[in-house]
Amino acid sequence: MISLALQMSMTISNVNCNGFTVEDEELSHMGSAVYPDVALINHSCCPNVIVTYNGNIAEVRAVQKMVPGDEVLTSYIDLLYPTADRNERLRDAYYFTCDCKECKNKSKDKIKLKVRKFKKTCEPEEIINMAMGVCLYMGDWEGAISYGEKVLKPYSVIYPPYSMNVASIYQKLGRLYLGLERKSQGITALKKAMAIMEVAHGKDHQYIVELRKEIGMQT
Ligand SMILES: [Zn+2]
Repeated sequence: MISLALQMSMTISNVNCNGFTVEDEELSHMGSAVYPDVALINHSCCPNVIVTYNGNIAEVRAVQKMVPGDEVLTSYIDLLYPTADRNERLRDAYYFTCDCKECKNKSKDKIKLKVRKFKKTCEPEEIINMAMGVCLYMGDWEGAISYGEKVLKPYSVIYPPYSMNVASIYQKLGRLYLGLERKSQGITALKKAMAIMEVAHGKDHQYIVELRKEIGMQT
């Protein structure tokens, strides 16, 4: 018979391996949940689906052309990091090493290493969030915009198509531009975020409805 303590620790490690971090559209952590069906999807660093949340329902959508019989693959980790780092994370949290196409040819490692170096000197989320925070007088809005613009290009190469990491930068940049009366740049950035999110979340998702309204108010 398995002791209660062992059962508990097995349950907790199952949540760690199969649990999903639920994030909002700006990738803020909202909680963790267990979705047994979604947990069956294997990992790839070149995922062909993305998992998003509509309330507490997990939804899976294709972000690449797929044909019947293709294995459904999602990414368990942030793909910002080079191959060695990604696999260290995968081994630590999920106890396996990935052998996907990207892990074999490491085609994006060079640009990922460059971004990692840049990231060490300043933490992007912090700067952008600080600038967008309530304390406007403490925030460096121009600094946040310049950071966002700088990471956008490498992020678009590093992340797969229809990445929420890229959408999140566009969305933050869009709101910053609008805050600084740079209206047409703001609208363009928000539309780019929406184009990604329509694929990732589906066109009727609450985030898209709100974003469409936000853009509509500017035009
Ligand atoms: Zn991989």
